[in-house]
Amino acid sequence: MYHDFMDLYGDKGNMMVLKKRCEDRGIEFILDTCGIGEERDLSTYDLIFLGGGADKEQINLIPDLLSRKENIQKAMDEKTFVLLICGGYQLFGQYYIAADNSKIEGLQFYDYYTDTGKEGSRCIGNIIIDANLDGLQTKIIGFENHGGQTLHVKSPLGKVLVGYGNSFEGGYEGFYDGHILGTYLHGPLLPKNPDVADFVIMKSLQKHHPEFKMEDLMPLENEFDKNARQVLIQRLMK
Ligand code: GLN
Repeated sequence: MYHDFMDLYGDKGNMMVLKKRCEDRGIEFILDTCGIGEERDLSTYDLIFLGGGADKEQINLIPDLLSRKENIQKAMDEKTFVLLICGGYQLFGQYYIAADNSKIEGLQFYDYYTDTGKEGSRCIGNIIIDANLDGLQTKIIGFENHGGQTLHVKSPLGKVLVGYGNSFEGGYEGFYDGHILGTYLHGPLLPKNPDVADFVIMKSLQKHHPEFKMEDLMPLENEFDKNARQVLIQRLMK
């Protein structure tokens, strides 16, 4: 959604990773885009993806996003999986207070809300979290840059090992409840975290194949990714 401007740090590159990992397994992958004012029934998709953006961009898209609230609810009820990065993640909660103190209403599907950082402070830098995705224990590596401090998150995605996460002091990052995965991790997220990419593929396939499991995905050669992850983990966790 809003691929033409919600693409901070190349977030839409995440879709290229899903495409490659699906095609390597012979799984059909169709990428569509949904811009402001474009008619789409989002409940017909297996996955909805919304990346991050600057405050100005979030303000620009919010009337359109709110107009799709019922349709997005229907999509989630019908098991469309939702992947949200940073600005997109914030907008599924109650509200986001932008850096100029203006209040952006969220979709209000969840209790969490996002205040602005004190005196313009921002959480910036590399981040590693320890996450458990329906039993899949994995370290998720990324890069964060957000003024927003997301609070009252009932089911965080993971525990922060390096970096900040949802807020300066909270110690936890992101949100995951089985239906949506929201995170502050850019990087983009999926090239650095093949486990998460495969998890998103599995969750998306479950819309039409509820019995589909991680083990049903054909294993792929992950040697380069594994080595790169090892180097990053050693470097950042020193
Ligand atoms: N503008 C939001 C913030 O600063 C989101 C930033 C982002 O998507 N990286 O908190």
